[in-house]
Amino acid sequence: MDICKLVFVICFATGIHCIPLFPYDLVDLTRNLGPDSIYYPILGGYEKVIEFQGSKEFGHWVFSNMLKMTEHVGTHMDAPSHFNKVGWNMHQIPINKMVGPGVIVNVKEKARKNPDYRVSINDMKEWEEKYGKMPDGAMVIMNSGWDAKYPDKNSVYGTKNVSDLKSFHHPGWHEDTISWIIANRHMLFIGTDAPSFDYGQSSTYPVHVLTSRENICGLENVANLDRIPPSGSIISAAGMKTVEGSGGPLRLYAMVPSAGANNSSVTNGTSNLLLIVICLTLFIKLQHF
Ligand SMILES: [Zn+2]
Repeated sequence: MDICKLVFVICFATGIHCIPLFPYDLVDLTRNLGPDSIYYPILGGYEKVIEFQGSKEFGHWVFSNMLKMTEHVGTHMDAPSHFNKVGWNMHQIPINKMVGPGVIVNVKEKARKNPDYRVSINDMKEWEEKYGKMPDGAMVIMNSGWDAKYPDKNSVYGTKNVSDLKSFHHPGWHEDTISWIIANRHMLFIGTDAPSFDYGQSSTYPVHVLTSRENICGLENVANLDRIPPSGSIISAAGMKTVEGSGGPLRLYAMVPSAGANNSSVTNGTSNLLLIVICLTLFIKLQHF
């Protein structure tokens, strides 16, 4: 009887220890939000006003700010209503449209040589040759290396004069590529580490128009894309639920399978769980003897 109990305790402890409770590493894809955050120069920027800060009024510490900013500042998302009058506003985007497998398309070398580079259909086909068919419900994000330029406005927009919109040079997505993805694959979000997923020289924003028409959301000024794999992550882009909102800053992050959480360890975890159940049953039965 006592030996059985001892065996139970050992098996239980071993099983609990081996189960991977959350087999992912979290990678923050978000920039700090503050006065240095990048926003499109014709928009309103970012302001923070302190409402309370101190201990005098309430007899204990209270701190609260009021924020006034454009919705399109720093690492942020675009709701489809940004470029589509009848597209989803922020509060209308279903929660199950805000998380999906990450598809990270690396065009750093091409964008380094040509700041007006636009991601091509060929880039997508090359990605699929290496990693397989793009998964449904994908969060498709371009890694152009623009991350390293942030938050220097002149470098990010590739101009000496950020007030002159026609002088912008930064990479983006080609509208033909977006049309190809929409026709042949299924994506929830289009994204970029640059300030806009339409390239800097665009004046008609066809990628915004095409994606908004399909209720596909957008991500801009994404950070840390070098820290996640081209394929295999899960990206969460749950934006603010602003009524009639056209976009907004968000805490964007990726879940990347942990190095130790391969299939075999998950399987081990499952069999250890089975072991715990068997031990627990044995223990309950022994109580009746
Ligand atoms: Zn935006």
